[in-house]
Amino acid sequence: MPQLSARDEIVSVDVWPVDVPLDDPFVISRGRLSAAECAFVRVCVSGGEVGYGEIAPFAALTGETRDASMADARRLAASLVGRRVSEWRELSEALEAMAPGSPAARTGLECALVDALARSRGTPLHALWSQIDGARPDVRVRETDVTLPMLDDARVEALAQGWYQRGFRVLKLKVGNPDVDKDLARVESLARRHPDVSFVLDANQGYDRAQARAFVERLRAWPARVRLFEQPVARDDFAGMAELRALAIVPIAADESVFTLADARRVIEAGAADVVNLKIMKSGLVRTIEIARAVRAAGLGLMIGGMMETRLAMGVSLSLVLGLGGIDHLDLDTPLLMSDDPWVGGYTYDGPRLIPSTQPGLGTQPKSA
Ligand SMILES: [Mg+2]
Repeated sequence: MPQLSARDEIVSVDVWPVDVPLDDPFVISRGRLSAAECAFVRVCVSGGEVGYGEIAPFAALTGETRDASMADARRLAASLVGRRVSEWRELSEALEAMAPGSPAARTGLECALVDALARSRGTPLHALWSQIDGARPDVRVRETDVTLPMLDDARVEALAQGWYQRGFRVLKLKVGNPDVDKDLARVESLARRHPDVSFVLDANQGYDRAQARAFVERLRAWPARVRLFEQPVARDDFAGMAELRALAIVPIAADESVFTLADARRVIEAGAADVVNLKIMKSGLVRTIEIARAVRAAGLGLMIGGMMETRLAMGVSLSLVLGLGGIDHLDLDTPLLMSDDPWVGGYTYDGPRLIPSTQPGLGTQPKSA
């Protein structure tokens, strides 16, 4: 289609920083944030379409700072000008070869490319994924969990009550303090207060094997309330995760253990997890799709989450849920933790429900443009 190729040549790529304030500081066992420090990407193509992307580095998890990832993105952007957005797969590989250690920077660029492509074709972004081998499109309203940060008990209780009133029935709790009893007391208190709520418990590698085992043993009393126990121990302690999984008390999810496709294969081989948590910012967009396929082919479950991302990057993750299908656990809540939404258009939240956009691409524009 020469006409399309003439219209989808990349003419410019811009990258700019944006700080989005949070309602409460986001505290986990490996870091603390008071604002989302991200950067946005805009790709303009020859036919006049524009695509947007987001870079949401989380230094405590991936080692990328915003300054470094913006510098990387600008360096990589120069290699994209003159290429076509329809070459997104090849371009993604080239970006990875140039900046293997900068997944967030690459992801921002990849997202802008595919958004521009889907907009040029007049289709929602998820329609792009539904053409991938093995995809089982699942376009419907889905529900996300919501994350409670590690704050004092009174604040956590108040936040939980507020989310409950807004309809949330899956709470994600950050655990992984060295004091296992304190973590359990908080979870048990919330479980008593909200008998129809279930939990995703995320230790972010905070426990050693003995602590993780003590924690899981205490969940024996009410296993049905725990959907997942995420990243209980160090990311490379596959044997420790496999031991917890062998207890068969609650499903074990791998998050920090899986950045790359090779990581996913190691987790599968070691029997280290029941579920793998996908995040475009830790793996890159195209690599995330490949990881999803490998994990699903091995019979494991899929979760999808994000770093501290606005509705732009989270909309890309939602598009994977809709277009690829087979992603059962949604942790797409970070826009709800922000005091401001820098975007208009795109998917919306109705309590915990994510209402897909039917607009071309992500359907999202910067509010200030
Ligand atoms: Mg996690």
